[in-house]
Amino acid sequence: MKDSNFLKEHNAKSIWHPMAHPADSQANPPTIVTRAQGVRITDLDGHETVDAVGGLWNVNLGFSCQPVKDAIAGQLDTLPYYSTFRGTSNDQVIQLAEELRRFFAPDGLTRAFFTSGGSDSVETALRLARQYHKIRGEAGRTKFLSLKKGYHGTHMGGASVNGNANFRTQYEPLLPGCHHIPAPYTYRNPFNESDPARLAQLCLQALEDEIAFQGSGTIAAFIMEPILGAGGVIPPHESFMPGVRDICTKHGILLIADEVITAFGRTGSWSGSRHWGVQPDLMATAKAITNGYFPFGAVMITSSVAEVFENDRTGAAAIGHGYTYSGHPVGAAAALACLAETEKLNVPENAATRGTQLHRGLLDLRDKHSLIGDVRGGHGLMCALELVSDRESKTPIDKATIATVQEVAYQSGAMVRVSGPNIILSPPLILTEEDADVILGALDDGLTAAAR
Ligand code: PMP
Repeated sequence: MKDSNFLKEHNAKSIWHPMAHPADSQANPPTIVTRAQGVRITDLDGHETVDAVGGLWNVNLGFSCQPVKDAIAGQLDTLPYYSTFRGTSNDQVIQLAEELRRFFAPDGLTRAFFTSGGSDSVETALRLARQYHKIRGEAGRTKFLSLKKGYHGTHMGGASVNGNANFRTQYEPLLPGCHHIPAPYTYRNPFNESDPARLAQLCLQALEDEIAFQGSGTIAAFIMEPILGAGGVIPPHESFMPGVRDICTKHGILLIADEVITAFGRTGSWSGSRHWGVQPDLMATAKAITNGYFPFGAVMITSSVAEVFENDRTGAAAIGHGYTYSGHPVGAAAALACLAETEKLNVPENAATRGTQLHRGLLDLRDKHSLIGDVRGGHGLMCALELVSDRESKTPIDKATIATVQEVAYQSGAMVRVSGPNIILSPPLILTEEDADVILGALDDGLTAAAR
């Protein structure tokens, strides 16, 4: 490995980081991670921390998952690449599709379209939704509805349904016909409603109103994360997603669950939709499907949507969409090993238990630290603290103070993620009780230092 000064200097000179100002990596050099074991990462200076970010919500099984490493290495030896474009397939991707069917058939999701990541999966789901309506003779259904504060990746379609101006403004004009409704975000919402159940009803009414305003026959799909992730970990009231499902069904609108974060155990269930007892029409997945070791994703499709394509005899169902790496055999082998490990270790159950511990610990921290405005979590291992400089007025924290929380927490043993005024926690799902305590202790230190 090149020496530390070389790496730091050349990082600043040559790399543009996603989601950062190009000048920022000079002003605030990134943590250069060089090694990882279990749930811990080690930086260039040899400092070791618990990775409370879990890679990027994707390293569910930790960094030392040997069966996944073996599957990747073995597959590289046997068949390092072959495409699934018309005319060819490979043994790994066929087995993976069957395994995914086994896990998700209870949710009605039986077919899979493979992708290279989350943004690709979202784009695929949006395209298939439009095509579905065209095949059925409803070509006028082209619009998409989504939630403010939602995050759906970076492709032009995904950016168009994203509900955060930071990811949109610089790239406009985006796809026409994409409209957003308020998110069931209890801490701040346009209705000034702090009761989660009542807020859910108000948001559902907003969805009904928007559908009426747009004309229900113009809408292809509603896309949502079962728990808003990048927007600040915002779990809706339990009535919300079932309510969305009912409204979509009533108006012939497809429901796309963006489960790029929530699938494969993060919420304590196999998927976020299942967590809320909802069957979506399409489910976009990626991230933990390969534990972050290989870029890969899958869109799962219900039998009833799939049959509209499969029974078409006009040619309209020919899929003019796909990626060079759709069904990549190495990705598929990694995913097969991940599914097996997730099942064998009963990872969703651990996510639920450790998620409850972490959430309780964060609520305790709120009693101690007035910088904490809101604590969100309680549904598996995705939690957030929303920081404020004043609790009464809910004034968002300034950048320098939240950076202090993050920096001191890092020195005290936990890597946490900052997103706007939020500290986001999405550690590996194999977290132990002691690891969770390390994260809580480090945050306690960070918040104490920042309050000074
Ligand atoms: N959808 C959601 C809900 C996500 O959280 C993300 C990534 N954080 C994406 C889509 C995009 O995934 P990727 O970064 O793999 O393209």
